[in-house]
Amino acid sequence: MNNLLNSINKTLLMGPGPSSVSPEVYTALHKPTIGHLDPKFLKIMDHIKIMLRTLLKTDNELTLPISGTGSAAMEACFVNLIEPPDSILIIENGYFGLRMIDMATRLNENVDTMKFEWGKVIDINMINDKLKQKKYNIVAVVHAETSTGVLNPIAEIAKLIPDDTLFIVDAVTSFGTVDINVDKWNIDAIYSCSQKGLSCPPGASPISFSDRAIYKLKNRKSKVPNWYLDLSMIINYWGGNSRVYHHTAPINMMYALYQGLCNVIEEGHDNVISRHLEAHKNLKLKLDALGISFLVDEKYRIPSLNSVIIPEGINDLVVRSTLLNDYNIEIGGGLGPLAGKIWRIGLMGHTARKENIDKLISALSIIL
Ligand SMILES: *Cc1c(COP(=O)(O)O)cnc(C)c1O
Repeated sequence: MNNLLNSINKTLLMGPGPSSVSPEVYTALHKPTIGHLDPKFLKIMDHIKIMLRTLLKTDNELTLPISGTGSAAMEACFVNLIEPPDSILIIENGYFGLRMIDMATRLNENVDTMKFEWGKVIDINMINDKLKQKKYNIVAVVHAETSTGVLNPIAEIAKLIPDDTLFIVDAVTSFGTVDINVDKWNIDAIYSCSQKGLSCPPGASPISFSDRAIYKLKNRKSKVPNWYLDLSMIINYWGGNSRVYHHTAPINMMYALYQGLCNVIEEGHDNVISRHLEAHKNLKLKLDALGISFLVDEKYRIPSLNSVIIPEGINDLVVRSTLLNDYNIEIGGGLGPLAGKIWRIGLMGHTARKENIDKLISALSIIL
C-alpha cells in the first residue's frame, strides 16, 4: 500500500499558523509515550505550569494547557466564566473577534459588541465611553488579530476595565512573539495555542485564570455547560496532591509543549521577542524593495503576522500555490472581506529568522 505520509515534505511555514516546528520539539514528540499519571509525566506537567507562569508574567495558580487547539482554549474561557444572565462586551476588529461573539452568544443572550474596521486598531476612547455607560460582567478582546495583522493595545484597554469586570484576552498569536504581562494588565483569563509563537504542532493550548476568575468559576450556580473543558474538574488533574483522572492528557503533545517552552526560556524571553521584532523589520525592508506595502498602520503591526497588500494585477492563488508547490513555502491569504486582497506572512517562533525571510523574498521576486 502506498503510505500517504511518504508524500509529506518539509514545508517552510510562513503563514498565520502553524509555524515551522523546531528540531528540538520533533525530538520531544518522538519520546516514548508514558502513562498520564506516571510521576515522570506529572513532573513535566508541573514544569509546564511554572514555565507558562514565567512567560505570561503571572502568579496565577490556575495556569495550564488545555488539550486542544487555541479555539478550545478560547471556549474554555467562555464556558467556564460566562453564566447567564451575565452582561458581556466583545470588542471586535477581525475574524477571531467574530469567533468570540459566536461562542459567547451560544452561552448567553446578553452579548454587546463593539465593531471596528478590519485592519484598523480599536478606538480606546469609544471603549472608554461604552464602559462608562454600562456595567459589564465580562469584557473580551483579541490581542493580536491574526486575520488582519493588528496588535490591539491591551495594556491601555486594561486600564479602562472596572475591578469587578472580568477581562478575557486572546493571546493566541501574541504569546511567545510579543510581551504579555498578565498580572500587571489585570487580565482575568488569557489563552493561547502551541502552534504559533511556540513552534509546536497544534494541540495543547495554554490558559491562565486570575483569582477573581476562579472565584467566579467556584461560585457558579449552574454547572459549566461543557464537560470536557470544565476547569473545576480539570484542575484536579493538573494540580493538588492527589491527581484525579479527567481525560487522558495528549502525552506527546505535552512533551512538545514542554520543549517549546524550554526553547523560549533557554534563548531568553526578551531575546525571543526582539528576534521577532528584528525579523519583522527585516521583512519590511525587503518587501519595501519589492514595492509591497502593509495593510496596517506602522504603530499597530503585529511583528509575527505581517499582512501585506497584494500588488495590483497579481493573482493571489497562483502566487500562493506556486510558493507552496515549487518552493515549499506556505504563506496565508486573507479572510472574510480581506480575502484576495492581502497575504498574511507569519514570522512566528522558530520561523522568525533571517534565512527564512531571504528564502521567501527570493522566491517571491522570481514569481512576481
Ligand atoms: C489561530 C487563532 C485562533 C484559533 O486557534 P486554533 O488553534 O486554530 O483553534 C484564535 N485566535 C487567534 C487570534 C488566532 O490567531
